Amino acid sequence: MHYLDHAATTPVPAEVAQAMMDVLTNQFGNPSAQYPLGQEAKKLTDRCRATVAKALGCKPERLFFTSCGTESDNWAIHAALWQGRHVGRHIITTSVEHSAILQPCKLLEQQGYEVTYLKPGRTGHVTVEQVEAALREDTVLVSMMLVNNETGCVFPVQETAQLLRQKKSRALLHCDAVQGFLKVPCDPVAWGVDMMSLSAHKIGGPKGIGALYIAESLRNPRPLLPGGGQELGLRSGTEATAQIAGFARAVELRMENHAEKLAKMAELKAYCLEKMLTIPTMVQVGRGEAPHILSLSLPGYPSANIVTDLGAKGICISAGSACHKGKSSHVVSALGLDKRTAAGVIRLSFGPETTTEDIDAAYEALREHKEKRFAML
Ligand code: PLP
Repeated sequence: MHYLDHAATTPVPAEVAQAMMDVLTNQFGNPSAQYPLGQEAKKLTDRCRATVAKALGCKPERLFFTSCGTESDNWAIHAALWQGRHVGRHIITTSVEHSAILQPCKLLEQQGYEVTYLKPGRTGHVTVEQVEAALREDTVLVSMMLVNNETGCVFPVQETAQLLRQKKSRALLHCDAVQGFLKVPCDPVAWGVDMMSLSAHKIGGPKGIGALYIAESLRNPRPLLPGGGQELGLRSGTEATAQIAGFARAVELRMENHAEKLAKMAELKAYCLEKMLTIPTMVQVGRGEAPHILSLSLPGYPSANIVTDLGAKGICISAGSACHKGKSSHVVSALGLDKRTAAGVIRLSFGPETTTEDIDAAYEALREHKEKRFAML
């Protein structure tokens, strides 16, 4: 198998699975229990929180575990709206956010909120000037992703934080860093970001565990799940201790020789781009800087067919985001591509395990696909 879909999810290294297994079978206590087995589980959870927080550069007590990136995004939005309930009902986001932001925004529009969706330019980027032009007195939230999951474009989160400070805006800044964490510079505390979402399964951790960073300046954040008082009373529910242990172990592993891993991914991406562009008519879509995501198009060749064809050969790539399952992606639509180019968009994404052989296999399969199939559009 050649797995080139690390932006959809990542393989879990054996060390991560082992850390989880230990918790499931040995250190399985409930962290709220008073006896030693429970207290050990509590200490383990605290250690894991400290590990993830250190990698993000925040205090452990400002990092709250959730069940996934989607949950973190939803929580952040609702926490911001609650915080700014006396400020107004205007939200700024981008039209290329993940559905975990866009769908809650759609629902909020039905409830009377006004949402400005910033559209990216041809390269896939949005600018801080667009944020400035959209900012209003009654803006309560700016939600901007760090790395777009389809194009790999890095968005100006740090500059947006600066802008909000300069303008003395009362809007809170949330950043969905699910694709950016441990892939590109990411420093919510130094940047002055109010909330940031993470997800473990994009960095070699298990599915079903995420985190939300909440800045100290948010004094009494709105709890997501009131209940038994876990996560400082903000997100109740017995801690998913095995998942948490897996998340922390995955972070530790990624942090080992981190710079080299990123440099290797960037090299692979450059190698892949150069090779793929030798296939006649193949084009790059957007100009994503993130080292792990490459968006391409074979104009006129429907991406669903490409993905199925390659899949049958054991090559896993995606037609844009995995969350869109065949439907034309909102990100592709937002880039304003012509119909034929938009139809042929594919995404190849890399991880520390990716090799040049994986890329060579995808290249051969794409070349064959183009030779054997006819353009449909
Ligand atoms: N945000 C972005 C940018 C993503 O790419 C994803 C997943 O693909 C999510 C949020 C959702 O994360 P999760 O799968 O952990 O809910």
